Amino acid sequence: MDQPVPAYLMALGAGDVAYRAIDGRTGVYAEPAMLDKAHYEFAEVGKMVTTAEGLYGPYRWGVYDVLVLPPGFPLGGMENPRLTFATPTIIAGDRSLVSLIAHELAHSWSGNLVTNATWTTSGSTKALPFTSSAGSWKP
Ligand SMILES: [Zn+2]
Repeated sequence: MDQPVPAYLMALGAGDVAYRAIDGRTGVYAEPAMLDKAHYEFAEVGKMVTTAEGLYGPYRWGVYDVLVLPPGFPLGGMENPRLTFATPTIIAGDRSLVSLIAHELAHSWSGNLVTNATWTTSGSTKALPFTSSAGSWKP
């Protein structure tokens, strides 16, 4: 990627994963057996990015994808520039739990563009996403 990122967080994803685009700048990675369900669940992620841009300004990371982790990752999500790691427990079949993605997406502004100066201020990256996920996602 062309954008520099702070080095306080590094994540690697590897495994038997496939990719399917949602639109021109969003998509989902998942194990092949989960890909159809994940693609359905996250079909509105592109609208989330557009809505967030209306609130916070241009999305500066190019693409925004979601990686659905295996069942051994039950802990919600983890934002990374360009790629959110997400628990498979939010794939409910009715898009009712995708507000987690809105939360992680908000870290593309607060947390990835504006981040902590030191470990002692790391809580400052959480304020915006907290308010972004306080309600349900509604496009
Ligand atoms: Zn968060």
